[in-house]
Amino acid sequence: METHSVPEYFGELVFDDRQMRARLSSKVYASLRKTIDEGKKLDPKIAEYVAQAMKEWALEKGATHFTHWFQPLTGITAEKHDSFITPSPDGSVIMEFSGKELIQGEPDASSFPSGGIRATFEARGYTAWDPTSYAFIKDKTLCIPTAFCSYSGEALDKKTPLLRSMEALNKQALRILKLFGNDTAKYVRTSVGPEQEYFLITKEMYDKRPDLRYTGRTLYGSRPPKGQEMDDHYFGVIKPRVQEFMNDLNRELWKLGILAKTEHNEVAPAQHELAPIYSTTNIATDQNQLMMEVMQKVAARHGLVCLLHEKPFAGVNGSGKHNNWSMATDTGINLLSPGETPYENAQFLLFLCAVIKAVDDYQDLLRLSVATAGNDHRLGANEAPPAIISVFLGDELSAILEAIENDAPYEGAEKKIMKLGVDVLPAFPRDTTDRNRTSPFAFTGNKFEFRSLGSSNSIACANIMLNTVVAESLKIYADRLEGAEDFEKTLHEMIKKTIKDHKRILFNGNGYDDAWVKEATEVRGLCNYRTTPDCMPHILDEKNVKLLTSHKVFTEKEIESRCEIMLENYCKQVRIEANAMMDMAYRQILPAITEYADKLSDTVAAKKAVTGSLACSYETDVISKLSVLADQIYSRSGELEKAIIALGEAGDVIKESAAIRDTLLPKMGELRAAADEAETLVSSECWPYPSYGDMLFSVR
Ligand code: ADP
Ligand code: MG
Repeated sequence: METHSVPEYFGELVFDDRQMRARLSSKVYASLRKTIDEGKKLDPKIAEYVAQAMKEWALEKGATHFTHWFQPLTGITAEKHDSFITPSPDGSVIMEFSGKELIQGEPDASSFPSGGIRATFEARGYTAWDPTSYAFIKDKTLCIPTAFCSYSGEALDKKTPLLRSMEALNKQALRILKLFGNDTAKYVRTSVGPEQEYFLITKEMYDKRPDLRYTGRTLYGSRPPKGQEMDDHYFGVIKPRVQEFMNDLNRELWKLGILAKTEHNEVAPAQHELAPIYSTTNIATDQNQLMMEVMQKVAARHGLVCLLHEKPFAGVNGSGKHNNWSMATDTGINLLSPGETPYENAQFLLFLCAVIKAVDDYQDLLRLSVATAGNDHRLGANEAPPAIISVFLGDELSAILEAIENDAPYEGAEKKIMKLGVDVLPAFPRDTTDRNRTSPFAFTGNKFEFRSLGSSNSIACANIMLNTVVAESLKIYADRLEGAEDFEKTLHEMIKKTIKDHKRILFNGNGYDDAWVKEATEVRGLCNYRTTPDCMPHILDEKNVKLLTSHKVFTEKEIESRCEIMLENYCKQVRIEANAMMDMAYRQILPAITEYADKLSDTVAAKKAVTGSLACSYETDVISKLSVLADQIYSRSGELEKAIIALGEAGDVIKESAAIRDTLLPKMGELRAAADEAETLVSSECWPYPSYGDMLFSVR
């Protein structure tokens, strides 16, 4: 237990601004700061000084190794540790770390997915320091956040396109700000506060579930007698063991400079949430990756396992990650915050409209940015936002937009026709009461909350798309406004037109309602891509390729490779699940059923010996039911096996993923149904796995 206070140890494992300022000369510090703040190219000469300062600091903290920490397309982070040790001529060692080692690394990366890029171009990739995200110490290792690229410059990671998308948005947003007379803002950054959901179960239970160990989710399991129907877990009293875990977790995160702020129980039993205070998008992304890693480590110390899968338990709420997103200037103006003056409000409305237009024009890109095999179980399952993307604005803001669209008086406090840019715009009421949890994309007062992300997703993908699609709207607006003869008139017309053209994406109602699915798809013509194989190939649609390449976020090759990798991941994931199901059925479930049926037969025989009759209805009944179920489990496993074989080694990943969705998943469902029914009949001693009830109520 630390004896010192939080402010004393907050960020003690981070080479943050405090360390930079204290340890670098003022000239070097100023130059590095320029790179960090304004994206100015890094002066290679200063890297040497920064490396020395970083090394000295790391050694003081007990670090022995350093690593370039990066985010390959596997979805987790990667690192390869090198020690600081360098032999010196007298046989001793010195601890060295050069500017070159700081700036660039060459991991032997041949086994990271590249979707064919490296095969065609270069065999090796390199990592490059991202000075805008602070280095930190983890397990006695100095971790340097880096981007990961091929030698021909193609991005092989998630950070590179994220940084490019932030730059794209920055460029276009500054153009708009200039038009509104703002010459002081030097840059616009997007910021993100990701709320992270997770489950905690005991290690003891986890170890007994091969499905959790292999796939992160339970592939079998009948519903527990008590689930979440009482709603007694949500914001309920946190159990002591969980509280100890959270305290420990907070301490670890604070040391790493992560602003872990709120924690509470979620809807499902054993489900919890942790939210940090928001920060700049690339930092928030790095920190969220780090946070997920630390959560799992700290859980292990407490004899617990932290489940980050989107749907660990069927029939119980899954876990998501809410991506709270906004744009702000370096001077501290949140561009999604309604202003005090009419002019500020016109600017706010333009940025708001840019988002609305972007979400409507690129629903498919936003949908596919959160698509994974795991998240497919959540979206549209009436517990998480639907797979249909729509925007929630709340009643007040919706009324304002409607008034603008129709040149009608706004029915707010002062009945006024809404004319933009001139001094009749009323002060906007701030509607921060949004509790519509069914909307995938909700405006919450001064930010949008993108709620479709899965709990295990890196937030990079969603933010890459979000930044880029909004950059595109802003670009279209800026192009028009820069050439406009009458700025205010053009502005007003543009906003009006955006509302008219894109109001189909606005929806304040209940997203879980079946009527909404019908209306959204049949009346409004919105996309409803239920699964990953449905949506992912749309990244290759002409309009999307054009968007992503024109803002220099991806090259065409990178888009193709990403599509391939995401679908490959999907196929691998479901195949592993199918194989795990068969393995469990053949080697554990069927033998368990036989064992229990044998026991019952023994009882039948014993009863017969006493009564001379075979008429014992309980035992014989269960035996015959189990016999039917065992036959079903056996034959359905066989069918699943055949379906896997039939898939073969498909060459075309788009076709393969669709086949997997259409053949494997339904067969897995049928197999599961038979096994889950058997579970309800077999004694808990004979059943090989802890039940849902055991797991969900295991942590006390
Ligand atoms: P909720 O009611 O959804 O829990 P909160 O106000 O607690 O909403 O905020 C949730 C998250 O949104 C937090 O991580 C918070 O830091 C983040 N957030 C707040 N303001 C912004 C902003 N301007 N940009 C991005 N994220 C923000
Ligand atoms: Mg929220």
